[in-house]
Amino acid sequence: MSPAEAGRISLYDTMARGKRPFVPLEAGRVRMYVCGPTVYSDPHIGNFRTFTVGDILRRWLEYRGYDVFYVMNITDIDDKTIRDSGREGVSLEEFTDRYTDSFLRGLDLLNIRRATAYPRATEYVPEMIGFIEALLKKGVAYVAEDGVYFDIDKFPEYGKLSGVDTSMVESTERVASDEYDKEAANDFALWKRATPEELKRGIYYDTPWMRGRPGWHIECSVMNRSLMGDTIDIHAGGEDLTFPHHENEIAQSESLTGKQFVRYWVHIRHLMINGKRMSKSLGNYVTFDDVIERYSPESFRYFYLTTHYRNPLDYTEAAMESAMNSAARLENTLDLAEEALRGEDTNLDYGKREELLLGEVGKMRAGFEDAMDDDLDTHGALDSLHAMSRAMNTYLAGPPNKGVVLKAYRTYRSLLGALGLFEWRGAEAGGLTEELLALIVRTRDRLREEKNYELSDLIRGELEKVGVSLSDKPGGTSWKIGRR
Ligand SMILES: [Zn+2]
Repeated sequence: MSPAEAGRISLYDTMARGKRPFVPLEAGRVRMYVCGPTVYSDPHIGNFRTFTVGDILRRWLEYRGYDVFYVMNITDIDDKTIRDSGREGVSLEEFTDRYTDSFLRGLDLLNIRRATAYPRATEYVPEMIGFIEALLKKGVAYVAEDGVYFDIDKFPEYGKLSGVDTSMVESTERVASDEYDKEAANDFALWKRATPEELKRGIYYDTPWMRGRPGWHIECSVMNRSLMGDTIDIHAGGEDLTFPHHENEIAQSESLTGKQFVRYWVHIRHLMINGKRMSKSLGNYVTFDDVIERYSPESFRYFYLTTHYRNPLDYTEAAMESAMNSAARLENTLDLAEEALRGEDTNLDYGKREELLLGEVGKMRAGFEDAMDDDLDTHGALDSLHAMSRAMNTYLAGPPNKGVVLKAYRTYRSLLGALGLFEWRGAEAGGLTEELLALIVRTRDRLREEKNYELSDLIRGELEKVGVSLSDKPGGTSWKIGRR
């Protein structure tokens, strides 16, 4: 890995309303935060688009040599988690643990690498109380009957991220709920007085002002600061979080520290279903489990990559079929290359065909990197990968030089890895796993020669269980390592 070169990657920054060369605060290090799930239901396929893009951004920064410190919060106390756990009659903790598990399971299925930390809001309440106390001391917040509020009049830059116009807002108006629309831009709740129900259920914390619990927006400001300091490099999230959530995070954090809170704001567009916004009321709601049952997680991850993250992505049957077929084409090249690497040496020359292949591979790698550097153009990156795959297939149709195949294969795999594709295939061809498999297969061939089919079938069955499938061909047995 070469050292990170500042300014090589460009990112679209919502605050600047344009692309900017990415330069982190500290050379070679990136502090990055993505707003995570509110754990009140199973995450839907729109949420997973955001989490996948976060993963791609992190992988690309690492590919370019950065050391990435990546935080994603888990909101386990807010209006929705309290409301729905109450309806179900279970404790807040039991309720949010269930959906935290479901979130983590989804990450694993989609091969989303774990963030450096997944802080839960309930673990940072003392820090939140201290943060609010400091805002009160600065005179930018005030205590009201039902809670502690941030006074947006005291932050003249309020609206700079989302462009919301607060000139018409009455200075006395307040909004208590965590989520609201632009028309309701008003003083927002940092802390909420406990309701009789919350008191009965024990969902409250004592403070100098009143028993209660934090509002949603303060959670992210506090977890950012606690884990990464006053200024972070990248803050990302779904586009619907721009207002009020991110606007409020800026107001809280910058009022407290007097410093820039975030250097680059990255927002990810919505996922649509058949051209419409997904919603339970429209009846077009598709759960993550529905999709994973019908298509492989690999094709689903591929589907997310087909469209740039700032464009709307439309979930349709046709788009999923197409993603599945395209992913299979990319994988087929891995199969062909691995088979060649396991085969006999039939070509030790470096001639025109070899030169052509490596030339193409180098060109396509540059195309892939340029696309990813340009604000994560995953669509363009996939085009380069397919071109590379076709060049490799053409070469592999003739007698392959194994050294040349290995070189192309390694480049191809490292680019697939940057997108998080086919990593489950494990060690590359030629490693210890491969040698051991070759040994098992040779042993089984001997058993078959001796007509010991009982034992040879047993070996086949056991390999099947760990995801290795064998096919007996006239020239010998070949194998394929599949997804377990
Ligand atoms: Zn947040």
